[in-house]
Amino acid sequence: MRTLLITMLLFSVAACQNAPKAKEGQTQNIQAMTKDSSSATEMQELIRKHPLKVLDTDFSKGRLRKEHLITLNDLEKFHGHLCDGLAVGFLAIGQAARLLYPDGPIDRSNTRIVSKSSPCLTDAAVYLTGARYQFHTFYVDNELPGALYIVQRIDNGKAVAVNLKKGVKPQEIEEMGARAVKQELGPCELDTLKEMEDDFSLFLLRSRPDSLFEVRELPAFEWQPVLRNDFVKSDILNKNMAPCAAH
Ligand SMILES: [Zn+2]
Repeated sequence: MRTLLITMLLFSVAACQNAPKAKEGQTQNIQAMTKDSSSATEMQELIRKHPLKVLDTDFSKGRLRKEHLITLNDLEKFHGHLCDGLAVGFLAIGQAARLLYPDGPIDRSNTRIVSKSSPCLTDAAVYLTGARYQFHTFYVDNELPGALYIVQRIDNGKAVAVNLKKGVKPQEIEEMGARAVKQELGPCELDTLKEMEDDFSLFLLRSRPDSLFEVRELPAFEWQPVLRNDFVKSDILNKNMAPCAAH
């Protein structure tokens, strides 16, 4: 028995000595995985801390008295993925709502919105405000001057434009994003862009929303809905891209 134990001990020491050392690439991968998991944990904590409250009717013919707390995770399920555009939309509408509904939830029976055509922004717009084109409460306009959205209360007509402040979104993301839409990025570059966008999402959620967005009132806003269905759904253009061979 004693011999067996000594043999096992010697074997395990030898095994340790012979264990291959982690190569530099593996170390980087491990660091990246650690960073990914700690960032994901922080992201989830931040998401839980920043819900938006909305108000709806309580059944198909009901009264306006049903409230929900909506998080970015809820919006993610509707949209399909969590991305920087979704975080921008979620926070932007939250900032507009502070001016339109300073005392309470976003009344989804009383809100209409004009959105830029990004798939992320439009999904945030309809989900959070309850606006829909068929009810004359939603349309898309890429010519909005200096705004991602115009959000309007129907009862008093108050309208606000909300936009990211200049310099908040990193220029590299804009440039690589534009190249991705032209399908000019390779598999590894696409992964790099995702990492940059994820970092930007985390930055957005860590920041005070009023430091990120400018919201201005539009006293002369005119609701001029147009129906178009020829916008590019830019978040599916690279859906068949091969994995990055370096990973
Ligand atoms: Zn998206």
